[in-house]
Amino acid sequence: MSGSHRFCFRGGEILVRRGGAAGHDTLALDSAGLRLDALGEPAERLTFADGSAAEAYPAGVDAPAGWEWLPFRGVIGALPEAEWLGAARAIAFVNWRTSTRFCGRCGAPNGDKADEQARQCPACGALSFPRLSPAVLAVVRKGDRILLARNAANKAGTWSILAGFVEPGETFEGCIRREVREEVSVEVEPGDYLGSQPWPFPDQLMVGFAAEWKSGELAPDGVEIAEAGWFGPDDHPPIPMHGSLSRRLIDAAFSGIEAAGTRQGPVPKNIRST
Ligand SMILES: [Zn+2]
Repeated sequence: MSGSHRFCFRGGEILVRRGGAAGHDTLALDSAGLRLDALGEPAERLTFADGSAAEAYPAGVDAPAGWEWLPFRGVIGALPEAEWLGAARAIAFVNWRTSTRFCGRCGAPNGDKADEQARQCPACGALSFPRLSPAVLAVVRKGDRILLARNAANKAGTWSILAGFVEPGETFEGCIRREVREEVSVEVEPGDYLGSQPWPFPDQLMVGFAAEWKSGELAPDGVEIAEAGWFGPDDHPPIPMHGSLSRRLIDAAFSGIEAAGTRQGPVPKNIRST
């Protein structure tokens, strides 16, 4: 994506314009063509060094004719990665500003630091920079199958690879071992880095790794994970939507298993993001 863009949000929704020909439904997220005053005054407006802007509007603001508000989380599968990344940056900054209106140290209303993207408290001087919460995704492989699990909170019924937030004092590898042990009671050996994806709900950075099963039988914790199993390319349950890193890692793992036939081999490495 090049040039400057304007992304408009209303809570977790983004303003989009539907388009496309011959039955292809495409989405345009860039509101640069929209009159600046079409939505009224934004509650937050940020500009980036490349001239792009992120705007946040209050709950009651209606979409102008020809545009609509759609849940941002649901549009990822319909977008080229470059456009997703631009919009993900925009909403991540909006989320950060919304959650740092007041100083976390003394509670005074925050100001803005003049020379960089940071909040600065006028009372005590505390600085708040945009925050990222790293979370790992682990493609755990056992022979020609991978570990998929259904999260207890997942209402859509999809199964995915295991994920978890990195804790303070923990490496990515340590996080993978702990998360898999806690959630399904098996021991794994973390392997190669496979790719990453910003996931601004509100501030995650997903980091994908391969891992190999070492020992133990699957025993879902029953709290976070409702069901878990080992699956191959031809016999797996519903998996996450296209566009998500978890889907990309699962597809690549299954492709690698299919390419290897009955032979066992590592998950391919050539799937990292741009
Ligand atoms: Zn303060």
